[in-house]
Amino acid sequence: MKRYQLCIAGQARDSRAGAWFETQNPFTGESWAEIPRGNAQDVDMAVQAAHQALTSGPWADLTHTQRGALLRKLGDLIARDAARLAATEVRDNGKLLAEMQGQLNYIPQWFYYYGGLADKVQGSTLPLDKKGYFAFTRHEPVGVVAAITPWNSPLLLLAWKIAPALAAGCTIVVKPSEFTSASTLEFAQLFEEAGFPPGVFNVVTGFGAEVGMPLVEHPLVAKISFTGSDATGRLINEKAARLLKHTTMELGGKSPNVVFEDADLEQAVFGAISGVFAATGQTCIAGSRLLVQDSIHDAFVEKLLAVARCARMGDPMHPDTQVGPVTTPAQYQKVLEYIDIARAEGATAVLGGGKGTGAECGNGWFVQPTIFTGVTNGMRIAQEEVFGPVLSVIRFQDEEDALRIANGVRFGLAAAVWTKDIGRAIRMSEKLQAGTVWVNTYRAVSFMAPFGGYKDSGIGRENGMDAIREYLQTKAVWINS
Ligand code: NAD
Repeated sequence: MKRYQLCIAGQARDSRAGAWFETQNPFTGESWAEIPRGNAQDVDMAVQAAHQALTSGPWADLTHTQRGALLRKLGDLIARDAARLAATEVRDNGKLLAEMQGQLNYIPQWFYYYGGLADKVQGSTLPLDKKGYFAFTRHEPVGVVAAITPWNSPLLLLAWKIAPALAAGCTIVVKPSEFTSASTLEFAQLFEEAGFPPGVFNVVTGFGAEVGMPLVEHPLVAKISFTGSDATGRLINEKAARLLKHTTMELGGKSPNVVFEDADLEQAVFGAISGVFAATGQTCIAGSRLLVQDSIHDAFVEKLLAVARCARMGDPMHPDTQVGPVTTPAQYQKVLEYIDIARAEGATAVLGGGKGTGAECGNGWFVQPTIFTGVTNGMRIAQEEVFGPVLSVIRFQDEEDALRIANGVRFGLAAAVWTKDIGRAIRMSEKLQAGTVWVNTYRAVSFMAPFGGYKDSGIGRENGMDAIREYLQTKAVWINS
């Protein structure tokens, strides 16, 4: 079995505890690699290395332009090694190979974009109210960043954090999810070749309580950039607040996908299906609530079923597979429990509603693509994040009703509207409480477009110009002339 090592100060090393845990392939159920079980001592060593790289030595001495060049070089190496990184993530996470190939083709763009931004972080001169003084601002790196990532899209979400953080001049300690650490450890191998000095990028793998919390609490960590569940996010944010640390919180969602009677229904069907079933429903932006106008409800559900029925479950490495396994056994149980809850609440499963058990599912943790109708917004299935291939269809009457239902959850990560009426599209996009609103599309993301949550879906933004500010702090310099 493959045995990985931590990445600390540019060196591959075992955990100080000398312990490992096994990681499983969600399609075969087999353990395929051993991941170091890090502890607080490893965290301390990694943070010390990151702090030293931040404050003295080659990284601290680089010009912004040189930093940008390193980021672009890293982008090139990711593109070169895309196949290896994609295969690792498929094996560890169960994502479809086709999806991972798409992601790995796109991830280098984050490093090109923020590499270009690295030397465009400019301060300003200030029109002061005091004679004889001159003042200007500088934007400086916020410090050592703890990047804590979830299991559902390890490499993409890591890129969203580290590309702007490195462009800002920060140094980083990453704690990937204990369920999917392998791709981050493989990715770490590219930094030395790209020319990054030791200590700029470190990875400590392990569990939340043993690695995540010591990282959050470490006095030399200035900023926590977290992506994960809102429960863990709250815990970390409480701790960070007491310790007065900066945070970016990218949390869960329960996104509405709103289809009006005047929409292009064929397009909307595909938007609804990719909205919820992509990555087996394990995406924070899953359009898990499909709001359909009453006048077209039954016809639309028919169209939806005609397409969704054909979704092929199976081996994520196989090019024909459309729905892969759920990533972890615990998540598999959770999704099945939500299906039971929905039934008990009175919703009707018009598609799926159980385990995937055919030969094509191997030993994997498969849940059938599932569609519930007769869902009302008060039901748990409409309010809580399932994080699996389960769609709840909810009827609405008119725009006002759609907005009431769409906004009637505690989350606010993303939302979509399907309509040919431009006025309605504008009204809805103004009133939907979400950090991203799509009109006649779903799931579009870009390194250029700010991404983040309203309400319980998070604090701060990733991507675009907004993200680099999350890793900078501003200094005002006064000169008495
Ligand atoms: P999670 O909260 O269980 O874990 C996330 C990370 O936090 C993991 O690395 C975990 O080990 C670590 N962690 C757990 N307990 C900790 C603790 N006490 N202290 C410090 N670290 C701790 O989330 P998950 O199940 O891995 O991911 C799924 C969740 O992530 C979903 O809610 C999903 O919506 C959310 N998510 C959000 C976005 C976004 O951009 N908003 C993107 C992807 C996923």
